[in-house]
Amino acid sequence: MINTILVTGGAGFLGSHLCERLLNEGNNVICVDNFSTGSKDNILHLHGNPRFEIIRHDINLPLFVEVDQIYNLACPASPVHYQLDPVQTIKTNVHGSINLLGLAKRTKARILQASTSEVYGDPDVHPQPETYCGMVNPIGPRSCYDEGKRCAESLFFDYHRQYQMDIKVARIFNTYGPRMHPDDGRVVSNFIMQALQNKDITIYGDGHQSRSFCYVDDLVDGLIRLMSTEKLVGPINLGNDGEFSMKELAEKVIRLTGSRSQLSYHPLPMDDPRQRRPDLRQSKEKLGWKPSVALEEGLTRTIDYFIGLLERHGNTVNV
Ligand code: NAD
Ligand code: UDP
Ligand code: UDP
Repeated sequence: MINTILVTGGAGFLGSHLCERLLNEGNNVICVDNFSTGSKDNILHLHGNPRFEIIRHDINLPLFVEVDQIYNLACPASPVHYQLDPVQTIKTNVHGSINLLGLAKRTKARILQASTSEVYGDPDVHPQPETYCGMVNPIGPRSCYDEGKRCAESLFFDYHRQYQMDIKVARIFNTYGPRMHPDDGRVVSNFIMQALQNKDITIYGDGHQSRSFCYVDDLVDGLIRLMSTEKLVGPINLGNDGEFSMKELAEKVIRLTGSRSQLSYHPLPMDDPRQRRPDLRQSKEKLGWKPSVALEEGLTRTIDYFIGLLERHGNTVNV
């Protein structure tokens, strides 16, 4: 059966990969995006596919389309971007989620929320299982995103309990790969762009804080698998459980690019989590999913993408 699937944030980094995969699997795809952090370049190659449609729209406003499934990815993901207009970020998570849940309620569509490991905040339980309730500063500079995503999870579960709606909640850990925005401020794109241009690698804090990085193809697999699983609601962690410090990441990127860059140290942003690694037991047992692309392999593919970008745009792409 051909499904008509709505992907909000479909012109962003993850959304564009998801749209591509869903089209390749034979679905009709409606991409909704306000192009705040996403770009038409990300979905240019999908134009001309008769099963692909793009709507410029802000999810804070009601949306009326007829769909079978909804992936709600609309929301800036990089701390630099989501802190530029924090009120818009929290509105997108709250008003935007309400509108999409209303749409799913009317159309009886299954709806998946792209939640985040940020719901765990600066965790004092490590690695983080889905049962951990998190340690989030509700009034800090990251709270527009963290608390926004936590409120979105509450809304999803309340609509599920109150209206028996078919929901899925994925808690996505740091994901990287081609089509990340070269200057959106996230660590993988920053380090690669800096290394390719032999600029200083900007380490925030002492570089001992850790993250676990998942390659985009693995993540998209996990999202689609969760959407097609009948009984599982979530929340479910999706990520890679290899854990690296930012200093280790910098050293890997320098080695893989053959760069002459030096490390430079800068203040750690407020509330920056010190450690993060997904507990993947539920994803493996209940979803039958685990990531397969190791960090060095994924970084090599991502570096190739950024080399191509620099060749096309010259040094006008800056970090
Ligand atoms: P991104 O910034 O590349 O993509 C977000 C997309 O949403 C962009 O195309 C943007 O223009 C669009 N958008 C933002 N606000 C909107 C609004 N109000 N209405 C319509 N469109 C809007 O980020 P991404 O990395 O692709 O992240 C996608 C989703 O996954 C986000 O919800 C993010 O919170 C979640 N997530 C991502 C990661 C990650 O590491 N990439 C980790 C955890 C969660
Ligand atoms: N909504 C939408 N598209 C639809 C149906 C609803 O955007 O197809 C929005 C509508 O603006 C509403 C929100 O979703 O404010 C929540 O819908 P719900 O049915 O929960 O609430 P109600 O309409 O009763 O306020
Ligand atoms: N970071 C860094 N240098 C940079 C960008 C980020 O050291 O140029 C650090 C940042 O302080 C954080 C980690 O890398 O500890 C991951 O940052 P990112 O913004 O990619 O994701 P998040 O903090 O949301 O996990």
